[in-house]
Amino acid sequence: MKHTTTTYLEVARTAVSQACIVTRYVQSRLDQIRAITKEDKSPVTIADLCAQAIIAKALFEKLPPMPLIAEEDADYLRDPKHRAHLEAALEATRLVWPEVTAERFLHFIDLGRSAGDARPAAFWTLDPVDGTKGFVRGRQYAVALAGVTLGKPVMAVLGCPNLPLAEQTDYDAANLNTKGSMYFAAAGEGAFAAASTDPTAPGELMTLQPFSTEPTTEVRLVRSAEAAHGAGGSIDRMMVRVDKPYKNLKLDSQCKYAILARGHAEGYLRIPPQDSPRKECIWDHAAGVLIAEEAGMKVTDCKGIDLDFSVGSRLDKNRGVVAAHPDLHASFIEAIAKL
Ligand code: AMP
Ligand code: MG
Repeated sequence: MKHTTTTYLEVARTAVSQACIVTRYVQSRLDQIRAITKEDKSPVTIADLCAQAIIAKALFEKLPPMPLIAEEDADYLRDPKHRAHLEAALEATRLVWPEVTAERFLHFIDLGRSAGDARPAAFWTLDPVDGTKGFVRGRQYAVALAGVTLGKPVMAVLGCPNLPLAEQTDYDAANLNTKGSMYFAAAGEGAFAAASTDPTAPGELMTLQPFSTEPTTEVRLVRSAEAAHGAGGSIDRMMVRVDKPYKNLKLDSQCKYAILARGHAEGYLRIPPQDSPRKECIWDHAAGVLIAEEAGMKVTDCKGIDLDFSVGSRLDKNRGVVAAHPDLHASFIEAIAKL
């Protein structure tokens, strides 16, 4: 790997790893935090903002400046009504940033505000806690950071604190007593998997095997645990046309891309309903897409068009996402066209 790429990835891995320490701590105290803040959703809000502050601080202090397009801003925590949230967030953040002050904390969160509309040629995009529903249920979530240049993700780190590296039968199971896993990639350099979210854990190059030509082999599809997010009905109708046996593996967040990259699934599809104007957010895909592609998977939108990350905070030029094993991708696109 080129020296600069290695440096960028090291900084990104360390930052994501620190964010994972803090989000893990918050997820282990869901009820206590709800008791302090008197709000059901507050733990995920707090985890989100802690992760964004920690990662923004690392990127802006350790690397040449590059805009950050992230999901959160600090307005919520600046509101005096949310003082309890701010205190809880600072307490969690001290685990990895002992000298944090409210002012510095809010400053770094707001560095993630670089408007998607500005369309810089190179930028970071971050989903500090992707899979908020999984997070509050005590299940899967991911900390997802990607560097994008000229519309393509070129560097990615995905921290998956509750996802073991080994293949699972149920990825949405509770009590995942695991060190989690971390995935990272640079364009043209391959994708790597590590057996913990520790940034010093050695990464192993992921290499894809051909899909079995045996007609009875089941295609494994990773799907959103939230039925409404992936248009489940369309996927089932598509698989009738593809005419292969398949099974669904449900879980929240971009951990789905990690499972795909490892070769433990063959497809991750988001097919929007015909009449839906909704476009996917860039931070929900950039990191996962590069990791899956570098591991050998093919990723396009539902029409087979490359994803274009250059047009703002959403994938406005694309419709849905089809990430799949290259031996199956064309059959999925063909079947979707006939739905
Ligand atoms: P997942 O864990 O796969 O369900 O993905 C979570 C992401 O889905 C969130 O970060 C949202 O940006 C996105 N999302 C929210 N609502 C919808 C929707 N109605 N359709 C598709 N994606 C959605
Ligand atoms: Mg998300």
